[in-house]
Amino acid sequence: MQYDTVIIGAGAAGMMCAIHAAKPGGPRVLVIDHAKAAGEKIRISGGGRCNFTNLETAPDRFLSANPHFCKSALSRYTQQDFVALVQRHGIPYHEKTLGQLFCNTTAQDIIRMLLDEMDKAGAEMRLETRLVDYSKTDPGFALTLETDGQRVPVTCRNLVIACGGKSIPKMGATGFGYEIARHFDHTVTGIRAGLVPLTFTPDETEEFKALSGLSCEGALSCSGGPYGKARFREAVLFTHRGLSGPAVLQISSYWREGLPVTLALRPDIDLLAELKRQKTANGKRHLATILSDYLPKRLAQSFAEHAGLAERNIADIGDKVLAALATTIQAREIRPAGSEGYRTAEVTVGGVDTAGLNSKTMESKTVPGLYFIGEVVDVTGWLGGYNFQWAWSSGWAAGTAIIDR
Ligand code: FAD
Repeated sequence: MQYDTVIIGAGAAGMMCAIHAAKPGGPRVLVIDHAKAAGEKIRISGGGRCNFTNLETAPDRFLSANPHFCKSALSRYTQQDFVALVQRHGIPYHEKTLGQLFCNTTAQDIIRMLLDEMDKAGAEMRLETRLVDYSKTDPGFALTLETDGQRVPVTCRNLVIACGGKSIPKMGATGFGYEIARHFDHTVTGIRAGLVPLTFTPDETEEFKALSGLSCEGALSCSGGPYGKARFREAVLFTHRGLSGPAVLQISSYWREGLPVTLALRPDIDLLAELKRQKTANGKRHLATILSDYLPKRLAQSFAEHAGLAERNIADIGDKVLAALATTIQAREIRPAGSEGYRTAEVTVGGVDTAGLNSKTMESKTVPGLYFIGEVVDVTGWLGGYNFQWAWSSGWAAGTAIIDR
């Protein structure tokens, strides 16, 4: 069987690429996926409502060894372009917070929209199909696809790798894209789980165990990793194993083993100034009660108990002790033991080295007709719809380059 383009992976990037690489009556485009359904990660994303883009998308919200690489695709297929597509399909959506756009009803609306667009463009799709063999030929590629134990030889001029990263292996994430990249002599940068909860050491697990399930406005910062300094101010959630919540997921992409992260609870107030004010105004109140003016009750109680001051009136506590307590609450250094890994990570940080790819087209600089798009590439977005926008933009960049090729 002969195709102009074969795309491996019917996820966000692969479907977007198919929509733009195909044309009714034009070159044949086939998308394959080993899963039973297309867009499985879209289906589960954003708690089932898909945070499909972010109005504040800008290159500085993406991590990559080359921070300039993502600029071209993001500027040529923007968040507004994707929003316009969503609007054309009459999909109801809303902005939740920080520019994050979510479907009102279900993420299935986005999957249906992409399938509908693929259908209109005349792209074909085969599910439960695997690529079992591949090689470069002079005009393109020779592939062997397997469906239901049946092997079929296929040739194509363009081969697009859109198999995503390694996060959530139980949903079929394999890291197959990295294998293909290495086969064609592309470098794959160090990959690791990103947007993932961090875990405590045994000592901290013991210290924080009473707080499991509590969440609080916080800020997490980290420096010394390959992407430099970062600070995120959003909710922090204490779990029975460590820390989670948006601020923690964000910082996890910047964090590396051995580095501390600094946790500030209620970063919106000057806690020491507040404690001193309370000392003057309400000297007879217990410290734990005063702290609960600023923190969830259990958290306040735990900090006061940990300092051995829970039952003390604030007037009896020296300013130095209050300052130390304020530092513990607002500049607490934690050395995470690790992360929860690919099992729960939303993304894979790192990937196919962008030095080997053309940033306008996503085509390999060394293997004509070979393209890498979406999460498999060393471009990782912040939490908040940025990763889907990268999938749409890079998929569009490859698709439009292919149809012009
Ligand atoms: P994927 O969407 O992962 O698609 C890859 C496809 O390739 C899959 O369909 C897979 O089955 C297929 N595949 C893999 N290996 C093979 C193989 N060997 N043979 C054939 N097919 C193969 N990002 C956001 O921007 N907003 C969100 O709300 C959001 N929520 C998320 C929630 C969760 C729980 C997770 C895990 C991720 C979330 N993300 C979110 C991240 C986002 O889902 C990914 O960044 C995005 O899906 C990447 O798109 P992709 O097309 O590159 O890869």
